[in-house]
Amino acid sequence: MPRAADIVICGAGIAGITAAHQLAIQGAAGRNGRILLVDERPPLTLTSDKSTECYRTFWPGPDDAMVRLIGRSVDLLEELARETGNAFRMNRRGYVYATADPERASALAEAAARAAAQGAGPLREGDYVPVAALEAAAAAAGDLAFAGQPDGADLIRDPAVLRAHFPYLSPRTTAVLHVRRAGWFSGQELGSTLLEQARARGVDLLRDRVESVHVGSGCVRGVELAAGGRVDAPVFVNAAGPFAAPVARLLDLALPVFSERHAKIAFADHRVAIPRAAPLLIWTDPQTLAWTDEERAALAESADGARLLAPFPGGVHARPEGPAESPMALMLWAYDAAPVAETWPLEFDPAFPDVVLRGLATMLPALQAYWGRAPRPSVDGGYYTKTRENRPLVGPLPVAGAYVIGALSGFGLMAAAACGELLAAHVTGGALPSYAPAFAPARYADPDYQARLATWDSTGQL
Ligand SMILES: Cc1cc2nc3c(=O)[nH]c(=O)nc-3n(C[C@H](O)[C@H](O)[C@H](O)COP(=O)(O)OP(=O)(O)OC[C@H]3O[C@@H](n4cnc5c(N)ncnc54)[C@H](O)[C@@H]3O)c2cc1C
Repeated sequence: MPRAADIVICGAGIAGITAAHQLAIQGAAGRNGRILLVDERPPLTLTSDKSTECYRTFWPGPDDAMVRLIGRSVDLLEELARETGNAFRMNRRGYVYATADPERASALAEAAARAAAQGAGPLREGDYVPVAALEAAAAAAGDLAFAGQPDGADLIRDPAVLRAHFPYLSPRTTAVLHVRRAGWFSGQELGSTLLEQARARGVDLLRDRVESVHVGSGCVRGVELAAGGRVDAPVFVNAAGPFAAPVARLLDLALPVFSERHAKIAFADHRVAIPRAAPLLIWTDPQTLAWTDEERAALAESADGARLLAPFPGGVHARPEGPAESPMALMLWAYDAAPVAETWPLEFDPAFPDVVLRGLATMLPALQAYWGRAPRPSVDGGYYTKTRENRPLVGPLPVAGAYVIGALSGFGLMAAAACGELLAAHVTGGALPSYAPAFAPARYADPDYQARLATWDSTGQL
């Protein structure tokens, strides 16, 4: 057990691992020559392995900070994919936002125009080039699947083009916005690749629990571990995911974060209702679920049943999972995302699989074949720990030597590479990118920022 380190990172989820990786690359190990990554669990096993593993650079926020942060992260992911022969199977199928509501189609177009103005690439209507054609061209050239795909977004409102390219979507669909610099990858493979590289550069991984953080004269001095005694270190990084707030309290600090419970189902779609080459498919319209009159009457009899008759929000989504021959699909719907206390094990709505299947069938009618006879799905999930404006916290805390990389909400996998890089630049005193202040915890001390928060619009933040 090391008794001294230069940096102790609490948490070996994707945040702690990318922080360690970037700190090692940026040469942050100092006098003690040691960066110590401490986790009471095996790496990547609390939240980071529950993700849908998707990414997008489409963030039509009130300013361009998220477009640039995640754009940078995707640059880093593409670099790593090239360097490792795509060890984490990154693709670029895109996100398809679909609607049956012409007004929502206009709202999608406006959001895409806003994202374009913020640097996410142009909005096109007409001359749609499908992903598969470009993937085939990349394969023929011996390149990776994501090579040669456009950025920006395509808006499709022409019914003939919609039917030609998305025959599996409901015939009620009037428009889709296909966001192109988006897709998915294996989060586990990404995390283990980065961890392996970090360890090869000397990062130590320790299975233990950070019980307390020692502070003296306003500076971090070290940590106390549950099993391993004290480790002296001048730098402490809070990468504790859903435990970020309790870990900050070890420094007598409060973090402005809360958590929502998010579940997903993995489902063997043997009927291929979701084509294996599909992008991530998102139905943006609110809806009420389709029930027979009999089911409706039975549900109305209990409060728990009656909630299934109420309107549900937009946003139910799905994607194929695994190689072409796999039948698996992932399906999600955050219809109950009220802030909750973080408790384990997580408990999910017992009706979740049925509700998600019914909601998705509005977009993908072939899923109706599973109603009442679905193969047993597996349900898992975790917490989106987030700030009020749904932006991460990356940077110094008001105790010298203390830092945070957290509040990664539903974008932790896609944002982690750039967040790790940003965290390491803060720690080493390296050059900070211009988006750094947008994510620094100190932003809340700015009255202008507080005033902006009052009118913050986080729409489009799946
Ligand atoms: C259902 C679902 C779908 C998602 N889909 C996507 C997606 O498509 N794309 C995307 O980019 N993101 C997605 N996310 C979000 C993403 O998974 C998270 O943002 C990310 O995993 C958070 O990583 P983390 O490292 O901050 O936290 P975690 O992975 O939770 O890691 C925190 C670690 O800190 C450790 N720890 C805490 N306290 C201590 C202590 N005192 N001592 C020692 N160790 C400690 C924990 O054991 C844990 O291992 C999704 C999340 C969920 C739940």
